[in-house]
Amino acid sequence: KLYNQVQDLKGNIRVYCRVRPFLPGQSSNMNSIGRIDDGSITIITPLKYGKEGRKSFNFNKVFGPIASQEEVFADTQPLIRSVLDGYNVCIFAYGQTGSGKTYTMSGPKELNEQSLGVNYRALNDLFHLSEERKDTFQYEIAVQMIEIYNEQVRDLLASDEIRNSSQNGVNVPDANLVPVTSTSEVLELMNVGQKNRAVSATALNDRSSRSHSCLTIHVQGRDMTSENVLRGCMHLVDLAGSERVDKSEVKGDRLKEAQHINKSLSALGDVIASLAQKNSHVPYRNSKLTQLLQDSLGGQAKTLMFVHISPEADAIGETISTLKFAERVA
Ligand code: ADP
Ligand code: MG
Repeated sequence: KLYNQVQDLKGNIRVYCRVRPFLPGQSSNMNSIGRIDDGSITIITPLKYGKEGRKSFNFNKVFGPIASQEEVFADTQPLIRSVLDGYNVCIFAYGQTGSGKTYTMSGPKELNEQSLGVNYRALNDLFHLSEERKDTFQYEIAVQMIEIYNEQVRDLLASDEIRNSSQNGVNVPDANLVPVTSTSEVLELMNVGQKNRAVSATALNDRSSRSHSCLTIHVQGRDMTSENVLRGCMHLVDLAGSERVDKSEVKGDRLKEAQHINKSLSALGDVIASLAQKNSHVPYRNSKLTQLLQDSLGGQAKTLMFVHISPEADAIGETISTLKFAERVA
């Protein structure tokens, strides 16, 4: 059975929008979300952003604030499973800091079975399926974790000294590739990787990271009768916060970070938009992130972009810019 059943008119690119709930202690009176339907979201904009005060955006799917991790995963699962058939897959979490990117991909700080994110569920599912198919296929699964900070690639699973693999171009194969056989092993690795991430406090969220982090899952399946080997890989990317930074307020390192983030997010947007429009030239070379993922963006590869929205009225500026980014790539 093939899992390649997720194609639609948009081809291999899909965009899901997720609205995070108000956080404990926040008042829900100042809500910028007017309406959520299965495939559209209406936001309430202050007058200065348009005459109507309301604007709708369409996506392949919109998850409201009460959508569970399980529901979100259910709509992602077919895509993830196609990796077992040899497809390359990229899943991105985009949005301003505090909008729920890490929640979607990894889960909250205090993890329990319900709150586990896409990364863990994806691996769990792959282990489960490879076990189910073990009489016909022999699968090997291995993971890499890297981060891109200021256009430099760092291996998050390098055990001793952190290696910088950017000297010889961008070369993910250069990062440690760790074979895994169980979800508990993976959880351990994710913890190691998380600790190695460069984090620096921002006003919005002290856990926020100014880097992109990428968990890559390599799957190799050998058909035991034909001896054919299928290879697929999946990149699960928790992007750096998309918020625009006021240049008058940040200087030095913070400004440099912001500029790198801006550049790489717009390069990613350009690549996905040109793939969606089926342009013949795709500008992969404009950022480390897109260079690194080149083989998994476009062609037969499948891409899913989760765009995250904060519901607060005072986030409306970022919400609009996030939705516009998403509209361009959808
Ligand atoms: P980001 O990674 O985009 O900066 P986080 O994932 O850290 O944002 O989310 C910010 C805060 O909101 C965290 O405390 C997180 O647990 C919480 N949060 C985000 N999304 C949800 C959600 N769907 N349900 C419940 N809490 C959420
Ligand atoms: Mg985060």
